[in-house]
Amino acid sequence: MSKDTLSAGQKIEEELTWQYPHIAKEAPEQKELADAFAQGYKKFLDEAKIERECVCFAVAALEKAGYTVFDPKKEYKQGDKVYSVNRGKSIIATTWGKKDICEGVRINGAHIDSPRLDLKPNPLYERKELAYFKTHYYGGIRKYQWVTIPLAMHGVMIKKSGEVVHVNIGEDENDPVLYISDLLPHLSAKQNQRTLADGIRGEELNIILGSLPFEDKEVKEPFKLQVLSILHEKYGVTERDFARAELEVVPATKARDVGLDRSMIGGYGQDDKICAYTALMAEIECKNPLYTSVTILTDKEEIGSMGNTGLDSGYVYDYLCYLAQNKGADVKEVCAHSACLSADVNAAYDPTFSDVYEENNSCYFNHGCVLTKYTGARGKGGSSDASAEFMAKVIDIMDKAGVYWQIGELGAVDVGGGGTIAKFVAEMNIDVVDLGVPIISMHSPFELSSKLDLYNTYLAFKAKCSSYVFAK
Ligand code: MN
Ligand code: MN
Repeated sequence: MSKDTLSAGQKIEEELTWQYPHIAKEAPEQKELADAFAQGYKKFLDEAKIERECVCFAVAALEKAGYTVFDPKKEYKQGDKVYSVNRGKSIIATTWGKKDICEGVRINGAHIDSPRLDLKPNPLYERKELAYFKTHYYGGIRKYQWVTIPLAMHGVMIKKSGEVVHVNIGEDENDPVLYISDLLPHLSAKQNQRTLADGIRGEELNIILGSLPFEDKEVKEPFKLQVLSILHEKYGVTERDFARAELEVVPATKARDVGLDRSMIGGYGQDDKICAYTALMAEIECKNPLYTSVTILTDKEEIGSMGNTGLDSGYVYDYLCYLAQNKGADVKEVCAHSACLSADVNAAYDPTFSDVYEENNSCYFNHGCVLTKYTGARGKGGSSDASAEFMAKVIDIMDKAGVYWQIGELGAVDVGGGGTIAKFVAEMNIDVVDLGVPIISMHSPFELSSKLDLYNTYLAFKAKCSSYVFAK
C-alpha cells in the first residue's frame, strides 16, 4: 500500500509502533553476502572444535594479519596489533586506538569452549569383551542427544618427558569414529519409564573403543590392552598418561548448510564459536580505530567461567592493567570508561516448542544479531542487567552502521535461564551487554543458526571495532 492511501490511524500506527524486520524482506542483497561469509565460518567450525584448536586458529589468523605477541614493555602506536595467549586455551587480541587509553577501550568477548564429553582421568576399562572410555560431561548437555552418533576425540596428553601429544581421532575421512550405545526399542520398555532428563545417565555415557583382543592368551585384560597398544603406537602414550591429559569427545560431524534454501548452518559448537569467529574477523579487519580494541576469546564459560582460563579469573583484568601501564594510565580509569559486548548466543524462537518462549520478547531467525539486556533466572538472578543508557549507546552504534539487530530474552519468565561472561566483565566496572546470534537447539551436537544473523553479528562487531563514537 502506498503512503497516500494510508488512513490517519495507519499513519500514526506506522510512526509509533515497531517490529523488527525480516532481513531477507528488507535487504535481500544481504543473502549472497551472508552466504559468502558463512563459507569461512563453516571451515572454522570444522577446524576448531575445542578451545585449544580455536586458539591455534586465532593465532595463525592474527599473525597472518600482522599481529605480534604483546610485550608490555614495548611502545605501541595507533594501528599496532598485538595478542596474548593464556595457557593455550584463551586469547586476547588488541588493535591500538587513536584516543588516549584513559578514555576507555572497546571490548568484545566470546567463549570458545562448548558443551561436550570429557574423558575421566582414569577412563579406560573393558567389559564383556568390549573396551570403553568413561566420560564426565562438560557444560549443560541433554545426555540422550549424545548416544548413537559418530564422535571424535580431541585434546592433549602430556608424556612423562613433558612432551605434549596432540590427539585428534575421528575428523579425517579415513579415521574411525567413537560411539556411545543406546537401547533398541524392543528392549527399552523399562528405560522408557525414565524421565527425558534421566533417559541416558551420566555413567551411561561410555564410549565404545574396540572389540578385538590383544593377541596373547596370557594377558589379563586383552581388550583394554589392544586399545592401549594402538594408542601407544600412534601417540607413544601409556595408561598412566591419562592423568596428564585433557581429552574432549565431540560430534564427528562437519558443519553443513541446512534447509532447501541453504539459509541456515548446522554444526557443533556454534555456542559460542559463531560469536568467536565473527569477533575475530571484525578484530582482524579493524584498522586504525579511534578506541583501542580488545577482543577476548575465552574458555570455561560453559561451566561458569571458573578456572584461570575463564573470565572469573584475573587474566583479562591483568591484561587491561598491562595496556594501561603501557600508556602510563590508571587501569581504574580505563575500565570506568570502557565498553564491552559480551558476545554470546541466545535461544531463537522455535515454533515446535513455542510454549517455553514469550513471543514478543524472543529473538527470531533472520532478524539480525540479538541484543540481550539481561540473562539470569528467577527474577534476573545472577545477571548483569545492562543500563538503559548503555543500551542506547550500543543501539546507536548499530543503527549508524546499518546493522540489523533485535532484542531477545532467554525464554519465558521462570521457564529456565542461563548466564554469560557479562557479569564478570561488569565486575571490572565496565559497561557491558550481551550481543550474539540466535540459535535453535543450543547445546545439542548439531546446533542451528541463520546465515543472515551470522552476517549481521559480524557487522555489529565491525561497527564496535571501527571509529564510531558512543553518543554522549
Ligand atoms: Mn554461550
Ligand atoms: Mn552455552
